[in-house]
Amino acid sequence: MITHNLGYPRIGTKRALKFALEDYWSGKITQDTLLLKAKQLRKEHWLVQQNNGIEIIPTNDFSFYDQVLDLSFTLGAIAPRYMESFNIPDRSLDLYFAMARGQQREGADVIAMEMTKWFDTNYHYIVPEFYKDQVFDLNTDKILNELQEAIELGITPKPVLIGPISYLLLGKEKEPGFDRLDLLEKLLPIYIELLQQIKENGANWIQIDEPFLVMDIAKDMQDQYTVVFDRIAKEVPELKVILATYFGDLGHCSSWVTKLPVHALHVDLVRGRDSYSTVLESLDPNISLSLGIVDGRNIWKNDYKVSLKLIQKAIGVLGASRVMLAPSCSLLHVPFDLDQEKETESLPSEVKSWMAFAKQKLKEIVHLSELAVDSLGNVSVLEQNMKVHRDKLHSDLIHNRQVKLAVSDLEDSDAVRKSEFKARQSLQKQHLRLPIFPTTTIGSFPQTSQIRALRSKLRNTRIDQGEYDSQIAQVIKETILWQQQIGLDVLVHGEFERNDMVEYFGEQLEGFAFTNFGWVQSYGSRAVKPPIIYGDVFRPHPMTVKWTSYAQGLTDLPVKGMLTGPVTILQWSFVRNDQPRETTANQIALAISEEVKDLEKAGIQIIQIDEPAIREGLPLKRGDWDTYLNWAIKAFRISASKVQDTTQIHTHMCYSEFNDIIKHIAAMDADVITIETSRSHMELLDAFVDFKYPNEIGPGVYDIHSPRVPSEKEMTALLEKAACLIPMENLWVNPDCGLKTRGWIETKDALLKMVSAAKALRRKY
Ligand code: GLN
Ligand code: ZN
Repeated sequence: MITHNLGYPRIGTKRALKFALEDYWSGKITQDTLLLKAKQLRKEHWLVQQNNGIEIIPTNDFSFYDQVLDLSFTLGAIAPRYMESFNIPDRSLDLYFAMARGQQREGADVIAMEMTKWFDTNYHYIVPEFYKDQVFDLNTDKILNELQEAIELGITPKPVLIGPISYLLLGKEKEPGFDRLDLLEKLLPIYIELLQQIKENGANWIQIDEPFLVMDIAKDMQDQYTVVFDRIAKEVPELKVILATYFGDLGHCSSWVTKLPVHALHVDLVRGRDSYSTVLESLDPNISLSLGIVDGRNIWKNDYKVSLKLIQKAIGVLGASRVMLAPSCSLLHVPFDLDQEKETESLPSEVKSWMAFAKQKLKEIVHLSELAVDSLGNVSVLEQNMKVHRDKLHSDLIHNRQVKLAVSDLEDSDAVRKSEFKARQSLQKQHLRLPIFPTTTIGSFPQTSQIRALRSKLRNTRIDQGEYDSQIAQVIKETILWQQQIGLDVLVHGEFERNDMVEYFGEQLEGFAFTNFGWVQSYGSRAVKPPIIYGDVFRPHPMTVKWTSYAQGLTDLPVKGMLTGPVTILQWSFVRNDQPRETTANQIALAISEEVKDLEKAGIQIIQIDEPAIREGLPLKRGDWDTYLNWAIKAFRISASKVQDTTQIHTHMCYSEFNDIIKHIAAMDADVITIETSRSHMELLDAFVDFKYPNEIGPGVYDIHSPRVPSEKEMTALLEKAACLIPMENLWVNPDCGLKTRGWIETKDALLKMVSAAKALRRKY
């Protein structure tokens, strides 16, 4: 049984690539130094895989920014604006970075390419741009150089390529009058040429990723896929093609995907097993099956007993020689190496013993391949693994009877407010006495370098908690007084005490662990360190009451309490895999609902529960949407419903389209929702208008993503547009999102103008 890997993380165990890139961009190191560091990282990563016993090792999975951009570069799909506007040598690394990040320099001002989420992961790729007269022009430098490097190291290389159909589907038409899939005819010969060169340069294997095969769209694309793979088989017959699918089950497509003329088909057995039997039965006798058995999307140890059963099933039907083992998808989505982590209070040794990062997962694949052919060969490994899972099953760290009971006791009525929205609205209007078009912000104010330095001093014990608290109190006070002075109606404390909107809550909830180096690439040089939810979640003590009521004590105006919602906390963490996501979401929801009750008790009359991640949790297959949305929305409602009618619940969502989920957004029944609309010129509001969304809305009038300060006129125009679209009594005035990434100068300027725009509007109505 052959073992292989689909892709390895590239950012470096301690984010070496991030720092090298940023040094290069800021001119601190030369391009040669950057190239050298990258080469060293590739070598290191290949050798880790080889030393852990993986037989076929991916190449071309390294990237300076993003693998989709790499492919656009290789295929010469370079938008005209990068060719025309400035003098950067053709296909140079600087051109590549200009495409990734834009460039503003003397004589050059060109915007970056768009970036969007890679399927349902938190990785962002650079969206290919296609034009009607698109030309492709092959440049094999990157792929062949890396192949050469790998061969010199003596590893068995398998270049990884996104397949032509998925590549086109990942992109966008940048002008009307054509369908990007029509470009396949032009693109296919370039791929063939590329594959031939790969073969000529010493590779026997190639991995062609077609993740769209697990999406709904694949159903109608059998012909195109057949054309592509027939052509490859005919023109490059000596190359062993592994067709990789991942992030889902092949579903309906199993019957024909299993007949495509490839050497092996890779399936993700972690994300979906519904069609596993069908795949085994219908697989063409010339094709091997690569089992994606080790979870490439989560950080838990593999359960060998369960995996071995699945592997045996394949061996039973196909024979061991036709079975390959691999992670479910590229390991890009998990951190590097658990061995780097010390046991700490935030990462108890018991929890650590249940985990596996990329490096550990390699070993798991190798163990499974050994155990599958000779279960007695390495009995101690199997026994150890079984013991870990037995211990985990019964660990006190995970299981909390009270929490489980509270979740199983949940009833529909726990997710419903006392009265209907209309009744609540009139009570809240009497109670809060806000003007029409009330003004507010989304929560955070600038996280200046002083604030971040303060937090790091506390962490390094250079200051004590008392000193830290008194400085935080001081900024909150200044911020409250300033908001009051410029005439905002609903104030916020500014979230200065929070490092991150999920981590802050995770650190205070039970059932969460944190690592020191558990970085996962999010895009380019950016990496995130998601919290790890390992056990039943509960709230041992209030989390936000202290600072919120301190802020409320400084003013007679209402201060909004700020919480992160259960779905967002779930979505931005590594979650446990021993219970449904829904159950974990409900546990978090109950914890948040406790906090909501405590805030209300402390006199807070408006509470915002942020849910920016609801949309990104949508399953890849449309048919699964309703199930997800039903439990996700319910979790939000559980967190928000246990309050008096007079208490106003806000929610906030950014980077989201609402058209196809508006029914569910309305079902959240938040008294007020604030959304990001300024960049789309209120277009995102249409969904609410068409649906006759009944509750109050604050469509953002100020794009907080750039330091640019919008003029009062622009904001007034946006507000007037909104005022034509939604009933006057439902309209709020606010920025698109929180202001933590902004500086104070532009923030103050912009908010002053925003308040003044709202006042002008009030005079008009
Ligand atoms: N309350 C958060 C803030 O203002 C919301 C952030 C977000 O939506 N991503 O920072
Ligand atoms: Zn936001």
